Amino acid sequence: MDVIHSVAALRERLERVPNNVFVPTMGNLHQGHIQLINIAKPRAACTVVSVFVNRLQFGPREDFERYPRTLESDFEQCRAAGVDVVFVPDEREIYPEVQTFVVEPSDLQHILEGAARPRHFRGVATVVLKLFNMVRPHSAIFGKKDYQQYIVLRDMVHQFALPIEIIPAETVRGPDGLALSSRNQYLSPMQLEEAPRLYQTLCAMREDLLQGSRAIQRMELEGMAGLARNGWRPDYIAVRRQSDLQEITPEDTHLVIVAAARLGTTRLIDNIEVELGG
Ligand code: AMP
Repeated sequence: MDVIHSVAALRERLERVPNNVFVPTMGNLHQGHIQLINIAKPRAACTVVSVFVNRLQFGPREDFERYPRTLESDFEQCRAAGVDVVFVPDEREIYPEVQTFVVEPSDLQHILEGAARPRHFRGVATVVLKLFNMVRPHSAIFGKKDYQQYIVLRDMVHQFALPIEIIPAETVRGPDGLALSSRNQYLSPMQLEEAPRLYQTLCAMREDLLQGSRAIQRMELEGMAGLARNGWRPDYIAVRRQSDLQEITPEDTHLVIVAAARLGTTRLIDNIEVELGG
């Protein structure tokens, strides 16, 4: 496995294997990331993982500084998973000067996660486009854990006609249902016990939808009230359609319930897809 720090060395390394598949990450790898690598591996001769904590996608009061950085463990896990190239640029490689050209995502950047985190998706889309230009993969894998991010990037690739296949991967969860996330380690032992309630709330809402309930707004409000009663500060719980995360119409059958809520100072997100029959 090659660990590469500069864009120049990356280009030189990948010249030899133009057939590569890409897994962008911010490091602090866990089984969710490893699953993306496992999906990537059989698809190309060369699997490239990037580890870069992208300042551009963090708000001024967010956790950029304290985001967990665990490079040695990341390398070990990549090696064990059979990764060929780990790209670990420092900030000057990705942003040698102030990034004045940015990717401005569609209206999607203003709803749900975008409303709670202004400029977040602009930062994500901009760095991912740059990474795509550096790695030049034929495919890239993204987790549905970050559902809106996946939709934004899928649409970016489509609208800019980038020759890259975007492959979504299912959310990996702990035995208690909690979606694996680097941010889970901010949680105290007591908060860790409480945290699975977010997924449980989504599961209960899915059950109601499958049972035929269409009182969407009431369901959303009750879901948020349930979390609030247990010490959470919910940002949103919303039943949306999978294709574009807009509000559902009676004709929609492919739904997703997306949620974000704060437990103490830690902000967790999760979602669950719902397929309505007939
Ligand atoms: P991050 O390092 O958090 O930026 O995530 C890098 C990639 O891993 C993104 O495509 C995430 O959606 C994906 N990812 C993170 N956590 C999970 C998880 N629990 N299950 C599946 N994919 C995940």
